[in-house]
Amino acid sequence: MKIGFIGLGQMGSAMVRNLVKAGHQVLVWNRSPAKAEALAAEGAKRVSTPAEAAQGAVVHTMLADDKAVEAVTFGADGILSAPGKPIHVSHSTIGLALAERLAKAHAEHGSVLVSAPVFGRPAAAEAAKLFIAAAGPADAIATCKPLFEAMGQKVFEIGEHAPAANLVKLCGNFLILSAVEAMAEAMTLAEKGGVERATLLEVLTGSLFGSPIYQTYGDIIVKESFRPAGFAAPLGLKDMNLVSQAATDARVPMPLLAVLRDHLLSTIAREGEDIDWSGIARIVAADAGL
Ligand code: NAP
Repeated sequence: MKIGFIGLGQMGSAMVRNLVKAGHQVLVWNRSPAKAEALAAEGAKRVSTPAEAAQGAVVHTMLADDKAVEAVTFGADGILSAPGKPIHVSHSTIGLALAERLAKAHAEHGSVLVSAPVFGRPAAAEAAKLFIAAAGPADAIATCKPLFEAMGQKVFEIGEHAPAANLVKLCGNFLILSAVEAMAEAMTLAEKGGVERATLLEVLTGSLFGSPIYQTYGDIIVKESFRPAGFAAPLGLKDMNLVSQAATDARVPMPLLAVLRDHLLSTIAREGEDIDWSGIARIVAADAGL
């Protein structure tokens, strides 16, 4: 299939490699051109604008935040200025209001939005092991299935209303960081009591907590491998702010969210922008005098 891909960061670059491997013709665009050039050497085709990337049947976006998605969709030479009307598959973790706005703008334009945020870090993206939560018109999702299968291990269909998939993603990221916070607190308690973190993790993941989140993040916390960041703390903060907006709009108190947000702020203030979001474990340990 001839498709476009906009946003070649840690996640996007890995996803493009798998689409190329699966035999798709992929037109790539990135704000900083060097990343597109690197992928052109691996079989993708570099184009000069987001609109040019929207020449095929489908155009994917995998961008940092709302501002970036707005720029490449609504801006000059953006997706909506392209002559064709490709399906826009939006993988970025964005807010619900923007997802609503995108769906409406595409409907008015005669095109279609599929929201398809992903679960899985860059290593999972490289290995084509992402979990994809997709929402949008059923026929559009069916068209995108081979593309999702090239990038992921499982697709969950959330329904026809595209923003529902974004809501699932925000709930998921809230739960992931809650698990990281809880693990960091438990490991700090264990360590101060003379039990090694690795021992605690072995018992817990080998018994009741054998899920990818506890295994992956538990290992990161034990080894303190917070750099290079697989998911940078500022992006995590962006997500917790999006959760907060959704919770405010829906009138849902989420007291735990305030703790997570503050720990991310402390992490960024003390450690800088280049640390993984699971670096909140450093703050938990420091607060306990470790
Ligand atoms: P990343 O490596 O920081 O890449 C961000 C991408 O967005 C880059 O291509 C960047 O372009 C582009 N960008 C940023 N601001 C822009 C703007 N104003 N206009 C145009 N392009 C802009 O981030 P990532 O880790 O790949 O994450 C991408 C998205 O996936 C985020 O929404 C994140 O929350 C989500 N996500 C990440 C993970 C993870 O573990 N990393 C997992 C699931 C979902 P430049 O190259 O020019 O800077």
